[in-house]
Amino acid sequence: MSVFLRLFLLESSQMRILRPCTLVVFLLFAAILSAPAQNHSSGAALVTPDWCRKLPRPEYSHLQRIPVHDSWFQVYRVAPHVLAIYEPHQWEETVMYLVDGSQRALLIDTGMGIGNLRALVSELTPLPVIVVNSHTHPDHTGGNWQFNTIYNLDSDYARNNAKGSTEIRAELEPGKICGALPKDFNPATYATRPWHTARWLHDGDLIDLGGRRLQVLATPGHSPDSICLFDAQNGLLFTGDTYYPGPVYVFGPGSDPIAYQRSVERLAALAAKVRLVLGGHNVPIAPPSILPELAREYADVRAGKIPAAGTEEEITKYPGPQITFFLSASYVSYSK
Ligand SMILES: [Zn+2]
Repeated sequence: MSVFLRLFLLESSQMRILRPCTLVVFLLFAAILSAPAQNHSSGAALVTPDWCRKLPRPEYSHLQRIPVHDSWFQVYRVAPHVLAIYEPHQWEETVMYLVDGSQRALLIDTGMGIGNLRALVSELTPLPVIVVNSHTHPDHTGGNWQFNTIYNLDSDYARNNAKGSTEIRAELEPGKICGALPKDFNPATYATRPWHTARWLHDGDLIDLGGRRLQVLATPGHSPDSICLFDAQNGLLFTGDTYYPGPVYVFGPGSDPIAYQRSVERLAALAAKVRLVLGGHNVPIAPPSILPELAREYADVRAGKIPAAGTEEEITKYPGPQITFFLSASYVSYSK
């Protein structure tokens, strides 16, 4: 990617904000401009990029941290029998969730595939684990290969991504890793490995963990296979990249700004039944009041009430009062 674009995006959030969609879009730029794969093994000289100096973010100080043996991940309790697994050493700052029922545990997303997530999960729960991907971008499916039971939204997009790819290697570029990589990680062979999807999910499906059921809400927009998972009994809404505290991305292959509007309106209508919103990056919890705000601000972007703050490399930034949106420049004047 161009340095200018990087600065434009970084300046927008004060932190790194690139997401897999940017990864896809700018893979070509990255391939051209990046240096040969840097060895990030623990023996290499370590760099501390600016984005990671203040991590974990201040919001984590209000959460109970669970001590674990692994040093790549951090684990926090966010609700009864719900843990957030945070990946602060890579600039995506992915957040995964481990939800315990009485019979099974649900792992929502598998992060970058850099750390040994399976060993960590085994330390956290004795239950058999079902993995559900909030969507199949590589920063949410990197560790899928470590697990046996994967569920995805029924879509050609997910089918294609399940074949794996090496595009995630760009996530090891200089400046994207904070500190040392795990000792047993090999950057030279890093890839999103193929996985087998055991069950294809559809809107409205229920995933029964024993004493706890989560409903699948198809919420396309960020990607065609984006879902939210709703634990109605406990008021927990897991939103993946449809919403997390940070700039929202609706651009790149497979994104759909019209579908995104329908999706966030659907989530806004659910807000009264939601106690916690749990997103896929940066910070694990947000209040339900963000859901109507998200729909309102996005509608304002579409209506031209939130002016564009600049366009670089075909991506336009719309800074709303609480949420910043990045959209493909070609959608600036799409029909209402
Ligand atoms: Zn993501």
